[in-house]
Amino acid sequence: MALVEGASEAEELQEDFEVKKMKLFKRKDKKEKEVKEKKDKKIVEEKVEAITEKKEKTKFGEKLLTCPRCNIKMKKVKKKDVIIDICKKCKGMWLDAGEVVKLSVMAQSKFKEDE
Ligand SMILES: [Zn+2]
Repeated sequence: MALVEGASEAEELQEDFEVKKMKLFKRKDKKEKEVKEKKDKKIVEEKVEAITEKKEKTKFGEKLLTCPRCNIKMKKVKKKDVIIDICKKCKGMWLDAGEVVKLSVMAQSKFKEDE
């Protein structure tokens, strides 16, 4: 009798072990899926970024600048004949030589209009 009991106990332990193993496998699968999804998302984002960059390039015929603070591509915004590079993240701006002067002239003429 005791032998039989011991055998069933071992069986139960074996079953328990199998269940735990299955759970672990499932968890591993889930994690791998998450990693894959993250990777896919990154690829899509990079593609979108590349397309946006191409579009912006043809729009202004200038290379996109990278924000020195965030290390991401800055967006080109055209205000009359001045093109300003603006960072989407820190809202930092980049002006080329002479553009500050152009902007201040624009601001001054606007000021005169208001008077
Ligand atoms: Zn930035």
